[in-house]
Amino acid sequence: MALIVKKFGGSSVANAERVFNVANIIVNDYKKGNDVIVVVSAQGDTTDDLIEKAKEINPDGASKREMDMLLSAGEQISISLLAMAIEKLGYPVISLLGWQAGFNTDSHYGFARIKNLNTERLKNEIDKRNIVIVAGFQGINRYDDITTLGRGGSDTSAVAIAASMKADLCQIYTDVDGVYSADPRKVDTAKKMDEITYDEMLELAAMGAQVLNNRSVEMAKKYNVELEVLSSLENKPGTIVKEIVKMEKTLIKGVAKDTNVTRISIVGVADTPGIAFKIFNKLAQAKVNVDTILQSVGRDGTKDITFTVPGDQCKTALKALENAKDIIDYKEISCNEKIAKVSIVGAGMESNPGVAAKMFEALYDAGININMISTSEIKISVLIDVDYADRAVKAVHDKFID
Ligand code: ADP
Ligand code: ASP
Ligand code: MG
Repeated sequence: MALIVKKFGGSSVANAERVFNVANIIVNDYKKGNDVIVVVSAQGDTTDDLIEKAKEINPDGASKREMDMLLSAGEQISISLLAMAIEKLGYPVISLLGWQAGFNTDSHYGFARIKNLNTERLKNEIDKRNIVIVAGFQGINRYDDITTLGRGGSDTSAVAIAASMKADLCQIYTDVDGVYSADPRKVDTAKKMDEITYDEMLELAAMGAQVLNNRSVEMAKKYNVELEVLSSLENKPGTIVKEIVKMEKTLIKGVAKDTNVTRISIVGVADTPGIAFKIFNKLAQAKVNVDTILQSVGRDGTKDITFTVPGDQCKTALKALENAKDIIDYKEISCNEKIAKVSIVGAGMESNPGVAAKMFEALYDAGININMISTSEIKISVLIDVDYADRAVKAVHDKFID
């Protein structure tokens, strides 16, 4: 007997047939005597549809608090429907919203962090031998307001429960049968991995491989929660994400693409100490996540600072910079949203010179121009025109992975 946490993504519960499919997977484990806690996302494209509805009301952007109130409704629908399906199969079940399940978060609406998980209710329900269905992606802050954890946040909800309840297994069910060397929907030569380390998965996720949310991997690594990514439609083993992988270290594990990237250039700032601090401090205060940064020499003793932010934080970043115009004197700010980031990830690249050159060669052969480059010990990222993103992923993937 074990305690199993299972998470099902939106496509796995998209319609009644899929909901029953998931109900059967859950019941199968429960019947064997296991305790089962399930985390679900909103059905299909519900979250995207709700975002569109909000835009119909306020195209300039509703307040983040009200957005969270709206978006959390998606998961309320899916947990109750799944619970009803399990009831219909004749098993004891209860659905819980994030706050009922004990998810306490900070007040960063739209991208809240879990501060603690009060497991009392979860434990009580498990003791009663109930199957527990928890709404992913949501919690409550100290003002008793609903918060959400950021897109793809249900993965994090599942890992948090697995960590706090010391679950024996944490399974992330989705619409592909594991983690691949690139998005299998975009690159037909992508290879499925049996195992991947937390660090490699973390980089792949952070670089845009949406199959796992990066915060969920961060948390899994911190609390040593072994994850399995597997299909809800095919009954076969998936990919295990864990600390040490037995397999031989390959040079490059995977290629990822992120199209939610905007490049901001601040042109003509004074070439004096403290400018970078002032700029990035203002952005940090506005809670903007800054990525690749490039500083270049401009004209007449000035310099230009260019960096990237997630596309959905661009407005916030520009507002923060405009408000700080008197502190950071600049000539102009330009913005390019038609940018994608393509990255290669692999722990083997640390000790292998020539990896970067090989990546750039693949892009050169494909006739794709590189805008900016950034590297870390286990990844190399390039910024390119978004229109070439899929071609770039394929070219780079096929250069490294055969
Ligand atoms: P869910 O709704 O189950 O959370 P997501 O859409 O968030 O599912 O994530 C699954 C999708 O991630 C897949 O359909 C696939 O297209 C995409 N994906 C991107 N990169 C990878 C990768 N390296 N391996 C597997 N899937 C990937
Ligand atoms: N429903 C949320 C989203 O679409 C959370 C999730 O799917 O994990 O982002
Ligand atoms: Mg997801």
